[in-house]
Amino acid sequence: MTELPQSHPLLPELADAVQSGLPSAISDLGRLVRIPSVSWDGFDPEQVVRSAEAVRSLFEGLGVFDSVRVSTAPIDEDRAGQPAVLATRAARNGKPTILLYAHHDVQPPGEDAAWDSAPFEPTVRGDRLYGRGAADDKAGVMAHVAAIRAFTAVVGTDFDLGLVVFIEGEEEFGSRSFSNFIVQHRDELAADVIVVADSDNWDADTPSITVGLRGNVTFKLTVSTLAHASHSGMFGGAAPDAMLAAIRLLSTLHAADGSVAVAGLTSRDAVTPDYSEERLAHEAALLEGVHPIGHGPVLSRLWDQPAITITGIDAPTVVNASNTLVPSVTVKVSARIAPGQSADDAYRALERHLHEHSPFGAHIAISDVDKGNPFLVDTSGWAVAEAEDAMHQAWGRRPVQTGIGGSIPFIADLVEVFPAAQILITGVEDPDSRAHSPNESLHLGVFHRAILTEAVLLAKLEGRA
Ligand SMILES: [Zn+2]
Repeated sequence: MTELPQSHPLLPELADAVQSGLPSAISDLGRLVRIPSVSWDGFDPEQVVRSAEAVRSLFEGLGVFDSVRVSTAPIDEDRAGQPAVLATRAARNGKPTILLYAHHDVQPPGEDAAWDSAPFEPTVRGDRLYGRGAADDKAGVMAHVAAIRAFTAVVGTDFDLGLVVFIEGEEEFGSRSFSNFIVQHRDELAADVIVVADSDNWDADTPSITVGLRGNVTFKLTVSTLAHASHSGMFGGAAPDAMLAAIRLLSTLHAADGSVAVAGLTSRDAVTPDYSEERLAHEAALLEGVHPIGHGPVLSRLWDQPAITITGIDAPTVVNASNTLVPSVTVKVSARIAPGQSADDAYRALERHLHEHSPFGAHIAISDVDKGNPFLVDTSGWAVAEAEDAMHQAWGRRPVQTGIGGSIPFIADLVEVFPAAQILITGVEDPDSRAHSPNESLHLGVFHRAILTEAVLLAKLEGRA
């Protein structure tokens, strides 16, 4: 048991309001889950429009905003991004403004057969709600709605806190119009505190605040050794094929223990919470007898060290494998970058390594480079302290400051446009949520506590001098 902080005077009333609002929050969430708002190319964009409209009407129904609307920004000259929802309420009497972010689009569901219940049919089993987007991130959307409902049920609608809501429509498809959107709506989005409700929690009973995110560098790498394919019986053993060159080159990216072996890719030196290799084996579903890679504390490997994965390969398929020396092989390289190193710098280190280690003089070409910077939250501001205290009150447990192995590149964009804003990365997921995978689900207890956390945070900010 950790000692509880001094509770907010409105905590009992907020807790009652959140509790009594929970059934409608869950049914509203179910209505959002039924809309298959996949933002990827090749999926019906009309569903993303429907979803934006449903979200707009939920925020409009709160009756606290000066303006609630659906808006898009261009990706480039020819294309518009997916619709986002933007709601604003001006601060009064010198109170701060808080921006609440989530996204209403979802990942494709994959094969229906891999799901125990249909992906867009919200289904409660045990203490979890299953469905695509039930956690990532329609629960983030609904946590904002339900927190504002509880807050206004207690304090009324005549409060001074400034509120901005930004519910993005293409987070799962690279946030392509995000930076144009925030520049275009810079004045409306300006806030003292930005809550990004799109991350996870330590476990279903312990909250987290995410303070570090790895960046990413991805690209296509083509390794070529021959101007055309040749008979492997005729030239094999003397002429190097591209597959051999690619295998040997890729094997230089990692040391024998599986840790990254690219000079110039840096790690961050930071203390991480305890997390056993057994827990990793369970949560990452390692097969019997397969052991983890890398070295150092497990969470240092996941949060503070680089990682390199080959996520795809273009080469002859096994059915088409003729007895020839393959002239050229292309792979997709996906690297995660530790906080503290820029994605540009990391890319240069990778590029240098590949050129220097290319075997047999094989030709190397790199294309389709995509980069996102890592990010460290400045934890020294008052907002992190307020959020941690709100979590402690709502969960009855002190939050764990966590890193996240994945990347949320748009956070770096946010900080660039709003350098003075304090960033809080929270979320409604837990280690069993399986976001992006079949059988995605939301733990309803986590949902409840996340709503109460945000309601307490709103009350605390309203009370700030
Ligand atoms: Zn998400």
